Amino acid sequence: MKTNHPLQTRAVRSFLTFVIAFSACWLCSCRSVPISGRSQFLLTTESYENELGVDAYEEYKKEYPVSKNREYTQALDRCGNAIKSVAGQDDFAWEFTVLDSEIKNAFCLPGGKVAVYSGIMDDMNNEAELAFVVAHEIGHAIARHGGEKMTRSIMQSVGAVLVSSIFDNELIDAVYGTGTELGVMLPYSRSNESEADAIGLILMARAGYDPSASYTFWKRFTNNGEGSSKLETILSTHPCDADRIAAMEANEPAARAEYERAKTKYGFGTKFTHRK
Ligand SMILES: [Zn+2]
Repeated sequence: MKTNHPLQTRAVRSFLTFVIAFSACWLCSCRSVPISGRSQFLLTTESYENELGVDAYEEYKKEYPVSKNREYTQALDRCGNAIKSVAGQDDFAWEFTVLDSEIKNAFCLPGGKVAVYSGIMDDMNNEAELAFVVAHEIGHAIARHGGEKMTRSIMQSVGAVLVSSIFDNELIDAVYGTGTELGVMLPYSRSNESEADAIGLILMARAGYDPSASYTFWKRFTNNGEGSSKLETILSTHPCDADRIAAMEANEPAARAEYERAKTKYGFGTKFTHRK
């Protein structure tokens, strides 16, 4: 009588267990991303992600002083509230803070905890450019990219255990680790950035800010998108800046239609003087 090799039996059993568990999770955890409409799969709950967001926000506020620059804080309050009113996230405990630091960045943690470093505001000409940066970050939060990242890490770890139990070979483990990093994790991070740009553009326009401020700012901020080579892009969590600018320009007509429908129009908003 022909018997199966033990490795074959173990592999089939592990694979079937994985497929059944994965299908059950998939059925329970699918959701459609607001605005983009993409289907996503999450193994984390929104309340868990938001709890992490609240804790991390408090840590950031301990690490950096809150800015006393009234021009910056008032502009963030105005554009933050305008975007919040069109974001469709009434369950978020929204908060908007300018952190005093030369860092040129901003973030929105799960649950609507937004922070913009004064360093990036020094590079902005007006409130509409700030609205784009804030709306991009809010795009990450409403698309629950943090939850997706945690989900991918869980899946990668489960896959690693599975591969290790089937093959029991260090070289295959290493190939799996590098392969999933380059083939799954990094491309997903890049597509998350593109999705946050697309959502952000629609949100800023609905909030009443001229959508052309998105690429005007990004072109100036990245020296016309010349910052990153194709190879750097492949190995990076961010898409190439030139590609991002091209996508913003391509998505502008849809955003402008939203802008035309906005009840209150701020145009480019307040022009920054950058007086300290
Ligand atoms: Zn981003």
